[in-house]
Amino acid sequence: KEVIFKIENLKTWFPITKGAFKKVVGHVKAVDDVSLDVYKGETLGIVGESGCGKSTLGKTVMMLEKPTDGKVLYNYDGEFKDVTKFNKHETFEFRKKVQMVFQDPYSALNPQKKIYTSFEEPLKVHGIKTQEEREAAMQKVLKMVNIQPDYLMRYPHEFSGGQRQRLCIARALEVMPDVLICDEPVSALDVSIQAQVLNLMKDIQKELNLTYLFIAHDLSVVQYMSDRIVVMYLGKIVEVADSKALYDEPLHPYTKALLSAIPVPDIHNEKKRQVLEGEVPSPIRKPSGCAFHNRCPNCMEICKTVDPAMLHRGKEGHMVACHLYDDKVERES
Ligand code: SF4
Ligand code: MG
Repeated sequence: KEVIFKIENLKTWFPITKGAFKKVVGHVKAVDDVSLDVYKGETLGIVGESGCGKSTLGKTVMMLEKPTDGKVLYNYDGEFKDVTKFNKHETFEFRKKVQMVFQDPYSALNPQKKIYTSFEEPLKVHGIKTQEEREAAMQKVLKMVNIQPDYLMRYPHEFSGGQRQRLCIARALEVMPDVLICDEPVSALDVSIQAQVLNLMKDIQKELNLTYLFIAHDLSVVQYMSDRIVVMYLGKIVEVADSKALYDEPLHPYTKALLSAIPVPDIHNEKKRQVLEGEVPSPIRKPSGCAFHNRCPNCMEICKTVDPAMLHRGKEGHMVACHLYDDKVERES
């Protein structure tokens, strides 16, 4: 497996300021020391409750958000370059390789403008000079998302939610990216339309050999799409595993709680339902030790003070950050 992205100790913190002189009184640690490899051609799901930092992670990876610290290494034909060090021009070129699809289609499609205009702009920006070439590129991507070419003359409001999201995907594909970062791409859609869009995304991925970072709060949607899944809680990764391993043998108590919130079709399933109590704490005032300790049914004394390290457990590639799996930690009975 070839690595396309290497994320190393990435931190994206936002300062909290007070008063007229904007004195910094603290930080929202939206992404807090995240390390992760992304493989070429895979769909890597990123899941967690809202406010866990998954969107910020996506934005930081494509430099829409400036990281506070850490590296984002991108594979340029075998040579890894740190995109956080890129100048304006290099960042601009990099964004041709990595595009983002957002939950809200209006963020990419200007409601005041015809689809044609929204679609022509990125092609112009990226130096496709003739109108003929631009139109050919537009037709090509529209075909991929099954939208008629003459619909280019319409306005965004003339489309259904599902069509609008397909248009956004098409627009992201215009510059022929290698990676799509999809942030809740179907959350705003009716459930009946979701599968349609997800299946289309799968087809496109195969056709173009794309890598997907698939961000969502809905674990069942993430599982449907992903080869591997990353579970985030308050800015940190708490578990990484193959989709199947995560489902069959989840290790982290938070993952178990997320999973048990999904209705289980098999009535003989022995998995105990574990209801997640309490609210997600504010990322401004993160609990000490394991950030999950105030909601964790397995919380031990050590959890309140010591942040658990990431450990390799279970099948290959399965990692978890929890004291329960640390052999050096003494169990309390
Ligand atoms: Fe629960 Fe402790 Fe594991 Fe955190 S480290 S998830 S509090 S058992
Ligand atoms: Mg979000």
